[in-house]
Amino acid sequence: MNAARHEMHARFWGVRGSIPVSGPGYARYGGNTSCVEVRCGGSVLVFDAGTGLRPLGAALVREGCADLDLFLTHGHIDHVVGLPFFALAYRPGNSLRVWSGHQGPGGGTTESTVRSLMSSPLLPITPDIFPAEVSFRDFSAGDDLAPPCGVSIRTARLRHPGGATGYRVDCGGRSICYVTDTEHKPDAPDENILTLVDGADILIYDAMFTDEELPRHRGWGHSTWEEGARLCRTAGVGTYAIFHHAPERDDEALDRIGAAARRVFPGSVVAREGMVLTP
Ligand SMILES: [Zn+2]
Ligand SMILES: [Zn+2]
Repeated sequence: MNAARHEMHARFWGVRGSIPVSGPGYARYGGNTSCVEVRCGGSVLVFDAGTGLRPLGAALVREGCADLDLFLTHGHIDHVVGLPFFALAYRPGNSLRVWSGHQGPGGGTTESTVRSLMSSPLLPITPDIFPAEVSFRDFSAGDDLAPPCGVSIRTARLRHPGGATGYRVDCGGRSICYVTDTEHKPDAPDENILTLVDGADILIYDAMFTDEELPRHRGWGHSTWEEGARLCRTAGVGTYAIFHHAPERDDEALDRIGAAARRVFPGSVVAREGMVLTP
């Protein structure tokens, strides 16, 4: 299996921000909230536990996956709500490591974030219900991580209420960056992000708003598809995946954003459920 040792790809299971959506207007891009699976050789890395984590869990159980690392950008509900419904955690003998770097004032630890979600009155269960071995790993955004699977991961602090963490995975000379939720300054690129994504093959980026909409949503902690394209150009990124779609953005609106983005950055794609990107 040596040829597969460094095979890398990203698969989208949830591409939406804030709240899941459903209905015919959302059929092509999908309605689940943030969840991206990254494969590096035999390792399974998952970024965020939005509602897309539920179908991913079913697929992983069918495959027989028993060990993975789950990296949270932060504890907002659209990024964690899938965890109580993650089938892999309900299998005895499985191992799940949950990581986050957003501790600090108002942030709590990784474990306290999950426990506050999985507790009464929000849910009738606690994380103790999981028969799998679930462990929680805290770090500070900006740290380099060395998960047991041996893949190297770099992180960066993002600009979001309560904090958030951006990630970069390097595997066999290829790289995928996952950067959501973050608000850029109006006049300058975020140096933390530029450093993180420098020369990356793929950047998955928070494009909740457009440049035209952003002034009405200052302080909400989100960026624009135009800023993502500017970052990709400056940092020499290959493929730009427009991500964390606003719930009101239907398929036709996302088609229009994709077309506009390709005019300014030809390597742009609009993330949709089921899409696989290979660096
Ligand atoms: Zn979000
Ligand atoms: Zn958020």
